[in-house]
Amino acid sequence: MAIKDIMDSLRDVVVENSRLSELVKDIKLIGQTLEIIYRLPKKGLEEEIVEKTQRALESVPDVEDVKIRFVEDIPAQPVMGAPAFTRRRVPNVKHLIAVGSGKGGVGKSTISANLALALSKLGYRVGLLDADIYGPSVPTLLGIKGERVHVDEENRIIPIEKYGIKTLSIGFLLPSEDTPVIWRGPMLMRALTQFLFDVRWGELDFLVLDLPPGTGDVQLTLAQNVYMSGAIVVTTPQDVALADVKKAVAMFKEVDIPILGVIENMAYFVCPDSGKRYYIFGKGRVPEFATTYGLKVLGSIPIDPDLAETSDMGIPVVESHPDSESSKAFIGMAKLISDILQRR
Ligand code: ADP
Repeated sequence: MAIKDIMDSLRDVVVENSRLSELVKDIKLIGQTLEIIYRLPKKGLEEEIVEKTQRALESVPDVEDVKIRFVEDIPAQPVMGAPAFTRRRVPNVKHLIAVGSGKGGVGKSTISANLALALSKLGYRVGLLDADIYGPSVPTLLGIKGERVHVDEENRIIPIEKYGIKTLSIGFLLPSEDTPVIWRGPMLMRALTQFLFDVRWGELDFLVLDLPPGTGDVQLTLAQNVYMSGAIVVTTPQDVALADVKKAVAMFKEVDIPILGVIENMAYFVCPDSGKRYYIFGKGRVPEFATTYGLKVLGSIPIDPDLAETSDMGIPVVESHPDSESSKAFIGMAKLISDILQRR
């Protein structure tokens, strides 16, 4: 009789919503004596567990004697239906919004920065954390490259304030732009966790988290360990971007993070002479994609030469051209997102 068969017998017995097999912390068969250590989900259940174990194993050959011990423990298995991990909330932050994309270069950081600024223009207290380890561009976008980060007397990092928002970038940890990211996973995750939790963010209505592109370990680990109100996925209308964005959507669904919607970037170009819209990368494909996946399109941003130019100069378009079509779209999206989150 193998331990596996004994575990199978314990799997059929339920005590207080847990199968006995799930409560086993250690199990040994020495000769014909079976020793089981259970973690106790609740005090007072000892007798029931002993009785049910003995009954379950009565007909099992080779087990003459069953010795049972208990240890008190936090359940290793969550209740059914709950995510299989515990997520920490960033203190004093009402809503953490993750911005992800299927691939790089679709404008994820540009959208994160302008969305953060648009939320701030609506009167909210906003933070922006650039966690894009592969291409941290928030320092460039906000014109704070080369700034030094300080810590307070409690060793908490003081975020940099610019355009009315508080911000930090993983880029501040890299000695220079050309430094390859050679950190190994655990070290990187420690740095990122510190940038979320050991920061004097103060009271924030929204903290926008600019994730690295794609669906790697960093995104997944953050999503599993940090409580997020929702995620936004940025894409452009090309086939390549749409193919990859499916993976990003699947990742957020997998880890049970509600997707607030999709933002279509570089959706069209407005001819400066005629005012006519040209859908250079295709029209209607992002809405079609969103419908297929049951998602909302939160907004569409045009290809905007002013946006590209002033971003490079460290002034996001919401700040440099507040009356432009792009800026209005960002304000519209910020309103929609705050509405969605406050309605919950
Ligand atoms: P990602 O974070 O997805 O890698 P970025 O936000 O860094 O992408 O944007 C990539 C480049 O595209 C930047 O040079 C940015 O200025 C430009 N860009 C992004 N969105 C637009 C847009 N709507 N119109 C014009 N240029 C854009």
